[in-house]
Amino acid sequence: MMLGADVSNLTGDAKSEAARGLSIIVPAYNEAKGIAHLHERLIELARTLRQRYGLATEVVYVDDGSVDATLQIARRLPATALDIQVVSLSRNFGKEAALMAGLDHARRGATLFMDGDGQHAPELVERLVAHWIEDGYDVVYTAKAHRDNEPLLRRLAVQGFYVLINWGARKKIPEDAGDFRLLSPRATQALRQLPERNRFFKGLASWIGFRQIRVDYEPEARVHGSSTFSPGHLIGLSIEGLTSFSVAPLRLASLLGLLLALAAFLFGLSILWETVVSGQSVPGYPSIVVGLMTIGGVQLLMIGIVGEYIGKILSELKARPVYFIAEHSVKAADTESEPGASVGNAAE
Ligand code: UDP
Ligand code: MG
Repeated sequence: MMLGADVSNLTGDAKSEAARGLSIIVPAYNEAKGIAHLHERLIELARTLRQRYGLATEVVYVDDGSVDATLQIARRLPATALDIQVVSLSRNFGKEAALMAGLDHARRGATLFMDGDGQHAPELVERLVAHWIEDGYDVVYTAKAHRDNEPLLRRLAVQGFYVLINWGARKKIPEDAGDFRLLSPRATQALRQLPERNRFFKGLASWIGFRQIRVDYEPEARVHGSSTFSPGHLIGLSIEGLTSFSVAPLRLASLLGLLLALAAFLFGLSILWETVVSGQSVPGYPSIVVGLMTIGGVQLLMIGIVGEYIGKILSELKARPVYFIAEHSVKAADTESEPGASVGNAAE
């Protein structure tokens, strides 16, 4: 019995793999205002890629339960130079689930993940593809070039997050990496084989290994509306990432417990010393209350941390589907695109 997974049948030779094409996965939640414009840019991109590498392109729009006209607009987008799939989820399941739905439906070899709000410039994709086809990289991920325009508190929080998540990890998750990334066919296949339901895409895409390269970029301004990720959301995602990727919080808990016990021991010694040497009886009350409160608080915190992990185990155990698809449509590229127009080799 083999307990690992072998994806070596998908050779690392990018030039021959390119014949299977590229699936661009775009999660969209209330992006009605920007999606048509993004699509025009993707058509341009598909033309360029076909000219330069003979690469056939498909775009998979995953409508994550939008309440605006995103789905209606996506359905009507023209399949010029690229195939279009529109996958509509039965409600808002969140970006991680949307990415997974896209990954499950992508029918080409390589995959590229890109936000639906225009912040991930299609023009940059040419560079990512070049790293894959010309330089033979398997995972080409982008990272924010800098965070100068973000508040100090947020930058500190981000740094703390990465220190914690990478603590003792064999495969470090690169700092500032975003969800905008390209995966070669074998990396895509590897990502598909990860069984967990609680997804932290950035972490998983880095965890799988293979040859990875970082590309720095400057995210564009959102075309319309504002980010759906509020500080509260981000904290939630961080807890998700931390608990699915490291036991650092648990380790921290043990460490803190050890420190507290040590402090208590020393304190006890000092009291003993005082009683023996100076013959003073222990005044007591404040130190006892402070001690009790500290220990009580720390214990509650640690129970909370353990609870996070137990909750995660519970949700994996329940094994509910990660998303439900309410509607799925496929449009083949217009005749303008000759090479690789026969799709059919579905990876399902
Ligand atoms: N998104 C999604 N489901 C959600 C929230 C967001 O599919 O529940 C999509 C959204 O449409 C966008 C991408 O995820 O394409 C990133 O979202 P956003 O721009 O709000 O986040 P940020 O750019 O701040 O990371
Ligand atoms: Mg955005």
